[in-house]
Amino acid sequence: MLLPALGLLLASASAAPLDRALVVDIRHATAAEVDALKQRPGVHWWLEMGARLVVGGEASAISELSEHSKPLGEAVALDRRDLALRAVGCNPGEAAPGRLLVQSGRWQLRQLDAGAALPAHDAGHELWRRVDGNEVLARQARLDLPARLAADPLIQPIVDRIDAARWFADLTQLASWDRSSYGTTSLNAARDWIGSRLQALGLTVTTPDFSMPGSGGGTITRQNVIGRWTGTELPDEWIIVGGHYDSRNSSLGSVTNAPGAEDNASGCAGVIELARALLPFKPRRSVLFMCYAGEEQGLYGSTRHVQALQGNGDFAKVRSVVIMDMIGYSADNQLDALYESKATYQSFLNRFAAAAAAYVPGLNLTLSTNPFGSDHMPYLNANKETVLAIDTDYADYPHYHRNTDTPANMGVNAQAMGAAILKTNAAVLAELVGASDRIFGAGQE
Ligand SMILES: [Zn+2]
Repeated sequence: MLLPALGLLLASASAAPLDRALVVDIRHATAAEVDALKQRPGVHWWLEMGARLVVGGEASAISELSEHSKPLGEAVALDRRDLALRAVGCNPGEAAPGRLLVQSGRWQLRQLDAGAALPAHDAGHELWRRVDGNEVLARQARLDLPARLAADPLIQPIVDRIDAARWFADLTQLASWDRSSYGTTSLNAARDWIGSRLQALGLTVTTPDFSMPGSGGGTITRQNVIGRWTGTELPDEWIIVGGHYDSRNSSLGSVTNAPGAEDNASGCAGVIELARALLPFKPRRSVLFMCYAGEEQGLYGSTRHVQALQGNGDFAKVRSVVIMDMIGYSADNQLDALYESKATYQSFLNRFAAAAAAYVPGLNLTLSTNPFGSDHMPYLNANKETVLAIDTDYADYPHYHRNTDTPANMGVNAQAMGAAILKTNAAVLAELVGASDRIFGAGQE
C-alpha cells in the first residue's frame, strides 16, 4: 500500500502548475504599498531588490496583481527552485547561465534551466546562490525613514566643506595615470601623488609594501598609501576611510590605458576630499585615510591591510570603516547610491540613510545587507563594522572597466553624484571621528 501511494504523491507534485513571477517597479511605492503587494492572496513568495520587487504565486493572482501595480515586463512561468541570485562585480554585462529576470544593485536574479545545478564560481569575482524564501536583498532607505530629519548645525559646516570641483580636479589628475596594479611607473606616480596630497594636509604618510600574484606568475610587491591622523583625545580608537587607487581596462592583465576615472579615481579622490573636510575640526579619534592597490585583481591591498593589523594587534583599535568604490556616475539626474554592509551592522547603515535625508535630500539611498566584491569585504569578513558606498548606476556605465573610463565620459552628473555621497559620508564621519563638539558633549557648549 505504501509504495503506490507514494508514487501517486510524487506524480501529483511534479504535475503541479508552475508559479508565475512578476517584477514590479516600487521606486515610488510607499512602505504600506510594498507590504500589501507581498501579502496579496495567492502570492507565494517575494524578493525585494531595492526599487524592484519580484513576486511569485498563482497565475490568476499574479495577473490580477499586474493590473494593480507597475509591472516591468510580462509574468514568467517558473519553478522557484530554478531561481538563482548572481552577484556581479567585474562584468555585469557578461554572458552567464540562465535567463536574466532582473538586475538591481549588485545582484541579478536569473532563471536556470529546470533542475540545473548552481553554476560553479570563483567567489572573489562572482557569487551564485539560491533564493531561500521571502527575502529583502536590498531596501530603499526612504521606506523606513521618519518623515523629517533635521540637519545638526554643528555638523553642517563639515558637510559644507565638501567641494565637488576640487574633488573632480583630483579625480582628473589621478585618471591621467594608467593605474593597473601590474604596471609600475604610472601606478607609482599615482601612489606618490596621493601621498603628497595627504602629507600636505598634515597627515603622517606611509606606503607599506604588500605582496600579490603577478600577471605572469610569481609575486609582485605593491603599496597601499596611508595618511594617518592621530586623535587629539582618543588616539587608540581608529576610523578608516578608504578606496582603491588601482584600475583596470577590459584586459585585466594589461598594464596600459586604464584611466579608471569612475573606477576608482572617484573613490580615491573622495578619501582626500573627506580628509580636507574633517581635519580642520581636529578629530578626537585617529583616522587612517587610505588608498589601496591590487583591488581589481582580488582585493589584495585591503586584505593585506587587515592581515597586517591583525598581525601587530592593532585591529582591535579599529572601530569603523568607510569604503568608497565608484561614487561619481549617474545615468540620469536622479541621484542614487547603494550602501552595503552585513545584517549585523544594519544600524550603521541606517546612520548613512539618516545623514543623506538630513544633509542631501536629493539623494536616494538603497541599503543592502548582501555585500560583495570590493575593499569592504576583508574588513566585514573579519567582523569589523564597515560600509561600502557605491553609485547605483555603475552597472549601466558604458565605460566600466574600459580604457574609455575617463573624467569626460563620466558625464554631466558626475560632480553632483560625487558630492552627494561625499556629503553623506562627511556627516557620518564627523560623528565617527569626533570632529564636532556635539558628539562628545565635552566641547565649548
Ligand atoms: Zn573599483
